[in-house]
Amino acid sequence: MATPRVTVWHEYRHEKTHKEVSDVYPEGMHTPIAKYLREQGLDVKTATLDEPEHGLTEAVLAETDVLTWWGHMAHHEVQDEIVERVQKRVLDGMGLIVLHSGHYSKIFRKLMGTSGNLKWREANEKERIWVIDSGHPIAEGLGEYIELPHEEMYGERFDIPTPDELVFVSWFEGGEVFRSGCCWTRGRGKVFYFRPGHETFPTYFNPEVLKVIYNAARWAAPHAIEPIPIVNAKVPLETIRS
Ligand code: ZN
Repeated sequence: MATPRVTVWHEYRHEKTHKEVSDVYPEGMHTPIAKYLREQGLDVKTATLDEPEHGLTEAVLAETDVLTWWGHMAHHEVQDEIVERVQKRVLDGMGLIVLHSGHYSKIFRKLMGTSGNLKWREANEKERIWVIDSGHPIAEGLGEYIELPHEEMYGERFDIPTPDELVFVSWFEGGEVFRSGCCWTRGRGKVFYFRPGHETFPTYFNPEVLKVIYNAARWAAPHAIEPIPIVNAKVPLETIRS
């Protein structure tokens, strides 16, 4: 397979208004993700909300095999036309990796058809992300779990369709659990939701978290991206004798 072309999309707003976030991610949360994926040999671009067409023009999407998505405070500012454009590309085969608060993004809710609601708490607590499908390509190279000393808690019930494959389940210090690594297909495209990544913690500098995003990009990369044709098969392959 050709080298996957990844576009790392980031809302890029918290860093401009919240010092506690820019202190952790001075170049934006997308930068360490893009840098790591590039170091692994992927072909990586970045795109952000405030660029024209949110950086997701037809031309950019036409050269994107896998899109990663982090948004939080400005989900409502993402234009519906761009959401439809991304959805179409996913249905045609583009992979989509939705990160953390992207569970409330327009694109994730549109693809899932559910609210994306969940339970949450900001208490700087420990998260242990258990690998429950160690044979899955997204879990390649990981141990039994990934431990993050400080994260936001997301708890069940997470309002999503039952995942086709569940790779990770998180446990939090306060007692909740959460389906934190979920796979689906939509049309020809693969979708992966990965939970960690609250903006005030250095989660996207964690080598195991970055490895999961890399593995997911490899997993979600399609062989080809093209619409599923609509065919009137008037002439059958075999003679129909009935
Ligand atoms: Zn958060």
